[in-house]
Amino acid sequence: AKAAGRRTWMRYDDSMEASIRRRATLAGALHKALDRGELRVVYQPRQSLATARITGAEALLRWSSPEHGEIAPDEFIPLAEENGMILEIGEWVLREACLALQRWRQHGLGGLTMSVNMSVLQLLRGDFAGVVRRVLDDTGVPPQALELELTESVLMANAAQTALKLQAFRELGVSLAIDDFGTGYSSLAYLKRLPITTIKIDRTFIADLGHDPEGAAITTTVIAMAHGLGLNVVAEGVENQVQADFLALHHCDEIQGYWVSRPLDAMACMAFIRNRRPP
Ligand code: C2E
Ligand code: CA
Ligand code: CA
Ligand code: CA
Repeated sequence: AKAAGRRTWMRYDDSMEASIRRRATLAGALHKALDRGELRVVYQPRQSLATARITGAEALLRWSSPEHGEIAPDEFIPLAEENGMILEIGEWVLREACLALQRWRQHGLGGLTMSVNMSVLQLLRGDFAGVVRRVLDDTGVPPQALELELTESVLMANAAQTALKLQAFRELGVSLAIDDFGTGYSSLAYLKRLPITTIKIDRTFIADLGHDPEGAAITTTVIAMAHGLGLNVVAEGVENQVQADFLALHHCDEIQGYWVSRPLDAMACMAFIRNRRPP
């Protein structure tokens, strides 16, 4: 029994070591990924439930490494946050996304919002508002067309400092969204004090719609309370008509998910948005 216990421990130890080794290897590869052109940005459309129009898109980062294959952002973004690379990568994503949006605008697609995910490190760095202003200037995107997404946990971690930082973005005229809403512990009463414009309901609650009464209760409550606070509500991870119908019935403003479209490259997304517009 003792030997078996020891073997189990060894295996656990080995897999820990393998995981630490993979993280170190990936972090090293990520250092070169940007210069080598291994990173790209894809865009997932967002749709209004009231008008069925595409309102904009969310920029999502992708990494295809020749050595390691396609690596999920959930794996490499935490690495980039740990070693500070997210500052450079995040600025690159912001610029790419604004360039794509500006191209769509030049092709006659006005009134769209581009959403870009922002990590806590970017927010807390002194001059990120300056970076955003410069990217907007360089690309010609009006601030009203840009929305920055922050996860709920990020906002809660550093309440007072965060509120101050967020104010700088709002003064720029950029919109702010709370991402993955419902997964953290914040109350909407607390959110009322932050200068945010949009709440994105986490896809775990949307996945529950149709078979779990709790997911439905949370979703309808968040929509009603967010509207009470004058906030725009987006449901994430909408995958079928049942979910979309439920959300429309409960006056959710917008949906995003495979039901509308998978994330697309910039050209394909522009074509998608155009096809969904009435002539
Ligand atoms: P997120 O911001 O919550 O992004 C939504 C994720 O849900 C994306 O995963 C998207 O591909 C996926 N998704 C969209 N529709 C559906 C659906 O109908 N069903 C399901 N099951 N999934 C759906 P992705 O692209 O793998 O990104 C994962 C996370 O990585 C993002 O979650 C975000 O937190 C982070 N991320 C991605 N790009 C960036 C970036 O440029 N900067 C930062 N800081 N984080 C990023
Ligand atoms: Ca997001
Ligand atoms: Ca999300
Ligand atoms: Ca997420």
